[in-house]
Amino acid sequence: MISSVYIHIPFCHNICTYCSFTKFYYNQDMVKKYLISLKEEVLKRYKGEEIKTIYVGGGTPNVLTITELEELFKIIAIFKLSNDYEFTFEVNPECLDYEKIKFLKQHKVNRISMGVERVNSKFLKYLGREHNFNLVKERIQEIKDIGILNINVDFIYALKNETLKDLDKELDLLLSLDVPHISTYSLMIEEHTKLYIDKTLEIDSDLDYLMYDLIRKKLISKGFKHYEISNFAKSSYESRHNLVYWNNMEYYGFGLSAASYVGNKRFTNTSNLNKYINGNYIKETETLSKKDKISYALILGFRKIEGINIQEFNKKYNVNLLELYNIKELIKNKNLIIQDGNLRISYDKIYVSNNILVNFVGE
Ligand code: SF4
Repeated sequence: MISSVYIHIPFCHNICTYCSFTKFYYNQDMVKKYLISLKEEVLKRYKGEEIKTIYVGGGTPNVLTITELEELFKIIAIFKLSNDYEFTFEVNPECLDYEKIKFLKQHKVNRISMGVERVNSKFLKYLGREHNFNLVKERIQEIKDIGILNINVDFIYALKNETLKDLDKELDLLLSLDVPHISTYSLMIEEHTKLYIDKTLEIDSDLDYLMYDLIRKKLISKGFKHYEISNFAKSSYESRHNLVYWNNMEYYGFGLSAASYVGNKRFTNTSNLNKYINGNYIKETETLSKKDKISYALILGFRKIEGINIQEFNKKYNVNLLELYNIKELIKNKNLIIQDGNLRISYDKIYVSNNILVNFVGE
C-alpha cells in the first residue's frame, strides 16, 4: 500500500556549479504551465490512499512566489493526509522569508530541509551558492520561531583545497545551528556541471575517507545517531520519508524526472520540460520480478546503519535472507554482521559500502 508522495519542483533562482539535477531557471510562465500539468498528473495517478509522508524537493521549491505556492498547495490538498504525517519542504535560504515560512507552516509543512551546504563564503562561492552563513542563521531562527523544529541541513564536503581543519571548523558552526538532522555529501564532479567543464578533480580518496570519519565521529559525539550512510539525526528525528525508500516501500513521485515505485513497477518521469507540460509524463517503466525486488531491498536496506531485519525480510519476500547471493561468505569475512536480529554492513566497512552492495545487483 502506498503511503508516501514525492513532488519535484524543478525551478531554481541560480544554478550551482556542481548540480546535475533536473532544474531550470525560474520562469513565471513555465511555472504556471508546470503546475497545471502537475495537477493533471496527480489527478490521473493518485488513487486516494492515505498519505503518511510528503516530500517537496527540487530544484528550489521555495523559489515559487506565494501565489504560485498557493496553486501548489491546492494540488497537495488532493492527498488524503494521515493524522500522524511528516511533510518536508526543501528550501534555499536566499529565496526564503518570514512570510513564506509562515505560509508553509499554515499549510501543514512540519519539516524543513535547507540547502546550507557550507559555512565559509569562499566555499559557498566555489559551489555557486548565493547565500551566506548569517542569512542561514537568521532563516533557521525564523523557522524555529514559527514553530517548525524538525529541520534538516544539507552539507557538502570534500571540496578542492579544503583541509580537515576547515571541515572541523565548519562542522562546529553548523552544529551551532542546533538542528536535529544533518545530511552530508562528498562532492562528486558530475558531467554537464560547471565544475566538470572547468576540469575540476575530486579530492584524493584517502582525504575523502578522513573527512567522512571526522564528520561521523564529530556528529556522533554531539548526540547524533548515524542512521544511514550519509544521514545523521537526533533521537526520533530520522527522515520518515527517506526511510520509505531505504525500506524498499512503495511511493508516488510526481513532477519532472520524479521516480515512483508502485506495485510491481518502478517508473521514472520524463526530464523533458516540454514533454511534461504536454502531459507525456513517464519516460521509463521497469517491471519488477521477485528477484529484482529483493535486489532493491538489499541495496537500499544496507544503506541503513542498522541494516535489515532478518525476520521481517524473510516474511515480506518469502525467502531466507541468509541463503541469498553470497551473504554467508560476506558474513564469514566480516563484511556483514548479524546483530539484534538484523543483518547489516560492518560499521568499519560503511565507507566502502558500494563494494559490498555491488554483490546484490541483478542475479
Ligand atoms: S543544487 Fe539545488 S539549488 Fe543548486 S542548481 Fe541544483 S537544484 Fe538548484
